[in-house]
Amino acid sequence: MTLTPGRLVLSEITKAYDGPQGSTAILRGASLTVEPGSTLAVVGPSGSGKSTLLHIIGSLDKPTSGSVVLNGVEVTALEGNRLADFRANDVGFVFQEHYLLPQLTAIENVLLPTIPAGRTAGANERARDLLEEMGVLHRSEAFPAQMSGGERQRTAVARALINGAKLLLCDEPTGNLDREAGSNMISLLTCLAEEQDVSIIVVTHNLEHATRLGTGFELLDGHLVALNACAEADGIQ
Ligand code: ADP
Repeated sequence: MTLTPGRLVLSEITKAYDGPQGSTAILRGASLTVEPGSTLAVVGPSGSGKSTLLHIIGSLDKPTSGSVVLNGVEVTALEGNRLADFRANDVGFVFQEHYLLPQLTAIENVLLPTIPAGRTAGANERARDLLEEMGVLHRSEAFPAQMSGGERQRTAVARALINGAKLLLCDEPTGNLDREAGSNMISLLTCLAEEQDVSIIVVTHNLEHATRLGTGFELLDGHLVALNACAEADGIQ
């Protein structure tokens, strides 16, 4: 199953965890629509459920209730091989840590997710195209230890998209980068969305980055609230 780019619709997502004190609701009805090829930022205090939300969108976790629908496919209902295919091909993750394998070069790291499907024809060319798009083609033979933090993180984006995902979920992708590298990363992500029609959701603590990503939401009491609505409520012009 490979999805063409399509609208992402989150409807009334709830998530509760059972603990010694009973059930705690983290998400209480988060809803969102993301158009193909757009970038969106999610901000919110630590522990507000941002990572949990990204994991649910990317099918790594199931909501307690509600649905995630991508291009007409209900991701939250996928099981077995269809779920495995979705995770492998239709969604890419980037985390605060790059998680590149130290013993592989940049291009070998990017090609790693293509191995299970045994797809080699064209993969090398696509890896080079993605590394070029992310501005690190000249580092394709470098090992992670020889690269800067920004170069490693941009390589991790190329790896996340090598199987053709049109949805990229980034959890604090600039958290370990200095100001300039972080800013470059945001510029590259916005170009990527425009040029490759990839929808990108970025969890960030950086309000300047959130503004540059265009549409912003804050996770407040388990709901997604548009950032301009938060500012209006606080009397900020
Ligand atoms: P954020 O990314 O906004 O910092 P998280 O999504 O990581 O927040 O976590 C939200 C809340 O859910 C936290 O209080 C966290 O402790 C709790 N939580 C996350 N995963 C689990 C789990 N598997 N079991 C119980 N509680 C969890």
